Amino acid sequence: MAIYAMLEQMQARQHFVEIPPRKASEEEILLVHSPEYHRKIAATDGLESVSLTGDTHTSADSYQTACLAAGGLLEAVSMVSSGKIDNAFALVRPPGHHAEKSRAMGYCLFNNVALAAAFARKKLGMERILIVDWDVHHGNGTQHLFERDPSVLFFSIHQYPHFPGTGFFTETGIGPGEGFTVNLPIPRGYGDGEYVAILSAILPPLAAEFRPDLVLVSAGFDMHPEDPLGGMQVSPRGFSGMTRCIMNLADACCGGRLVLALEGGYCVDAIGESVKAVLMELADFTFCSPSELAAQARPKKVLYALKRSVKVQRHYWKSLAEPLQIQFTNETLRI
Ligand SMILES: [Zn+2]
Repeated sequence: MAIYAMLEQMQARQHFVEIPPRKASEEEILLVHSPEYHRKIAATDGLESVSLTGDTHTSADSYQTACLAAGGLLEAVSMVSSGKIDNAFALVRPPGHHAEKSRAMGYCLFNNVALAAAFARKKLGMERILIVDWDVHHGNGTQHLFERDPSVLFFSIHQYPHFPGTGFFTETGIGPGEGFTVNLPIPRGYGDGEYVAILSAILPPLAAEFRPDLVLVSAGFDMHPEDPLGGMQVSPRGFSGMTRCIMNLADACCGGRLVLALEGGYCVDAIGESVKAVLMELADFTFCSPSELAAQARPKKVLYALKRSVKVQRHYWKSLAEPLQIQFTNETLRI
């Protein structure tokens, strides 16, 4: 509701294309979920309240809403794929990145972003998908759904230790998918500069080597300082910077094909402003400079995360074999 209220007042609103959502079909839901699990969620339809797990409950409309959330994102992916629009942001709930193949978790019923990646691969003929998950929580569901799949590169930066407890540096994928999971677990207290510096240092080389056909973002807003569930300090400016960083790499790798999906974000006042900052950047109404923001990062925090991640990922990615150079206001550091 806070996002819709923001959109009502947004002056640039007429420059955006509204994509009417549709319900994802059962066949589409089964791209990543099991038939038993789909039946279990469908059976909640119309029931006043069902507790699926300790933290995930449904109401009468949850199943239909979850089908619309997934289908809305698939529609956005189709439109970006066909070139009808440049990029898109699916402002949908319930979120998805904690949902596993056969289990609801962390307010998530169907894994929207995982469905979008599978849909792009199997229905739109794309070969490789990059998923960037910047939500404050680790996207355990998305990781597990693709950890054996080298066609989907899953990158997650998240608070650690924190819910759901997964996402350590050494979780890098399994079997043929080894090396295609990249985790950056970071302690609380990271802000705009640090997030943008980390993404700017590691994502462009990975993306250039992986050559995705589409970039998807699990866009949570629970890294905002006022969020009750997160411990980070990312302001709307930081969200702009991260968006621009990812837009730039999508431009370089896949003709700018980029689709974001809303994940977490639990401070009603913060989420409207933060989503607005992302939309303004996506539409080129603002141009945030990632390098300017990254220069303001606290070097120690950036190095903590990057050193550990790069040490693990250098086994898999040639592009990380060369020293990474990071430019701060008063110093330049190499990893
Ligand atoms: Zn979250």
